Amino acid sequence: MDPDTFTFNFNNDPLVFGRHQTYLCYEVERLDNGTWVKMDQHRSFLHNQAKDPLYGFDGRHTELCFLGLIPYWQLDLAQTYRVTWFISWSPCFSWGCAEQVRAFLQENTHMRLRIFAARIYDYDRLYKEALQMLRGAGAQVSIMTYDEFEHCWDTFVDHQGRPFQPWDELEEHSQALSGRLQAILQNQGNRRMGLSL
Ligand SMILES: [Zn+2]
Repeated sequence: MDPDTFTFNFNNDPLVFGRHQTYLCYEVERLDNGTWVKMDQHRSFLHNQAKDPLYGFDGRHTELCFLGLIPYWQLDLAQTYRVTWFISWSPCFSWGCAEQVRAFLQENTHMRLRIFAARIYDYDRLYKEALQMLRGAGAQVSIMTYDEFEHCWDTFVDHQGRPFQPWDELEEHSQALSGRLQAILQNQGNRRMGLSL
């Protein structure tokens, strides 16, 4: 990925506007005798496919582009895999991404999913439901911290040897978003136990 594309799309300042695409960097590991072993051949990044009215194509969200790749990998159903996403926006609810990921995890019990989101996608009125649904489906959902941004820079960005340069207030935004995410997921837990908040 181009360094400017990464810095613009993964910047976790909620007040930077114009980021209409969702970027998703992914890695896959295979469980081998209790240790996760990275599968370098399944490590890359994607972004959503734009609408193309000329061909009647409605566009495709990044998460669904990812799910569409997996059948081509011909993974061994007898093994356990762990997928990690570093995603610029948390998955949506209204357009069905969270639901499709949930269905995917239910059908593919040999797959685990960890999601690290740079930002919470609160342009979707039901963004909380999306996060709760993913967690309820067994996905581990977290907010990207300095370590994940640096890891993405080192792994997915064509950085030409330059080290990761954090933007202003990276840590503050990350902490604030983690607090919001905890509140959303906590609320879900309490609701499940029948407590009203
Ligand atoms: Zn979506």
